[in-house]
Amino acid sequence: MPDMDNAVDIIIIGAGPAGLTAALRLQQLGYRVQMLERSATWPRPQIGEALTPGVKNIIDMLDANEALAAVPHLAGLSTRLRWRSTTPEIAGHGDAAVINRAAFDAALLQLARQRGISVCMPARIEDISGTAGDWQLHISTPAGRQQITARFILDAGGRSNGAQQYACAPRLSAMWVELEADQVFNNIAHNIANEMANLTQVEALEHGWLWGTRLPDLRYRVMLVSDPQTAHQKMPGQAENWLRWNCANSELFKTIAQVPYASRLQACTATPYLALDSWQDGRLKLGDAAFALDPISSSGVEKAMRFSLQAVVAIHTLLGSTDSNRYECHDRYELARHFFEQRLTETCARHQYWTQSYYAQAWCSEHPFWQSRAGIATNCADGAVAGDDHPLVRAMHEQSAQLRDYQPAELKPLSTFNPCQPLRIHPAASLAESYCVVDDRVQKQLALSHPNLERPISFLENQALFPNLNFLWQPQPLAHVLLKLEQSMGRQTSQKITAWLWQRGVLESLA
Ligand SMILES: Cc1cc2nc3c(=O)[nH]c(=O)nc-3n(C[C@H](O)[C@H](O)[C@H](O)COP(=O)(O)OP(=O)(O)OC[C@H]3O[C@@H](n4cnc5c(N)ncnc54)[C@H](O)[C@@H]3O)c2cc1C
Repeated sequence: MPDMDNAVDIIIIGAGPAGLTAALRLQQLGYRVQMLERSATWPRPQIGEALTPGVKNIIDMLDANEALAAVPHLAGLSTRLRWRSTTPEIAGHGDAAVINRAAFDAALLQLARQRGISVCMPARIEDISGTAGDWQLHISTPAGRQQITARFILDAGGRSNGAQQYACAPRLSAMWVELEADQVFNNIAHNIANEMANLTQVEALEHGWLWGTRLPDLRYRVMLVSDPQTAHQKMPGQAENWLRWNCANSELFKTIAQVPYASRLQACTATPYLALDSWQDGRLKLGDAAFALDPISSSGVEKAMRFSLQAVVAIHTLLGSTDSNRYECHDRYELARHFFEQRLTETCARHQYWTQSYYAQAWCSEHPFWQSRAGIATNCADGAVAGDDHPLVRAMHEQSAQLRDYQPAELKPLSTFNPCQPLRIHPAASLAESYCVVDDRVQKQLALSHPNLERPISFLENQALFPNLNFLWQPQPLAHVLLKLEQSMGRQTSQKITAWLWQRGVLESLA
């Protein structure tokens, strides 16, 4: 705990994956960080045990592999899906992992402490006053009341019902329960039990979907995600019956429909949203505080951690320079804000696009639950703002539309490349300014756009494309192209970049 007059650079509220990722990264960059966590029980239970493979490289970046090695987990799981058709299929061959989330968060928190990050827990925030650059927080802890001052506040307090939330899809709620694994597997044939123990299962049903997996502690978790209104209409006040009824009417979970529950039934809202107030001067939201994803992707933890890394880049752009020139400061502010908001809306847009396509593929997609989720997003969550005209919502919709319009071009085989023909940048390509990360700070960089590219690119093989490629607006013999590029990036890299752009039609050969 810092002393009364011991100010820190950044206060982080919440010790979930978002807050901890930000804390560890900011500390690596040399900032003094103070974490506040309100939970009196620690490790505290938390939903979100299935981790997508992308978490691995974030853990590498945080140098946290060793700290997480002892976290109970099941690795190499595949998924049995009854989704695209009524015949189950195996997907994601062994790339999923299920962890004990409480232990995962606790191990990261312990690592933060070991690295010298100050953690105050349990802490209750009583009030926040001040302005960007000079915040004062009064907190109460079992040791008494404390004041902390900070230049920046990061709110990583998780999912909430904030008034400034834009619902990115129709309402969803989740309910889940745990069963004793032996009760789940005892009543079924040995081979099926064996399979079920090593697979995550997901099944689309008329009114929602079911997800089930063995947990590292040998329990089995089953979760139903459905529209809360339908649940209320069909079985008002009978959550347990609703879950059992859906299991009984499923293919993959019917054997467990009547198994006694080994935990109390829990439920929460699961509507995806975007918090429109995620950027305030000197005060940012991270993870579920900034956006929540549909649990169907099982990627909330990865996206929360990744967005924290991006937010740290924005913060480092703002705080990591000693230059106090007014215009420089203003430029840095604009760069940081634009980058933060662009990454936020891009995360939501990509997820919305993926989710809608995924819901559209369900075998039962003609039913209302699926129709409404496969279509254009509607803003219908309780307490959501009618935010369609908000710049962040407009940006998210524009990015979604671009993703819908994008048709990936087939890669041209290199065997058809004719080295005797001159090369030039395809006339449909154009240059625009884009926001890139260089040395952990945001920079404006020229980026190449082309209909065959999913997004504008500034770098390939760690090399800035421009001004290096400028001479290629005019046709050039291949030997000249390679010779010129080699001067700045070496032969192998020049060849790789030339081939990459040509295969996608961004460089064209002229007959
Ligand atoms: C039903 C459901 C299933 C899901 N399944 C998956 C899944 O399988 N895989 C996956 O990757 N994701 C899943 N998710 C998403 C995942 O749970 C979240 O994306 C993830 O937990 C977000 O992490 P976070 O750090 O932002 O927030 P959290 O993990 O919620 O952490 C927030 C922390 O902040 C603390 N806090 C809150 N307010 C304060 C305060 N005022 N002061 C101090 N501390 C505070 C809380 O105690 C908590 O410790 C699921 C979500 C739902 C709803």
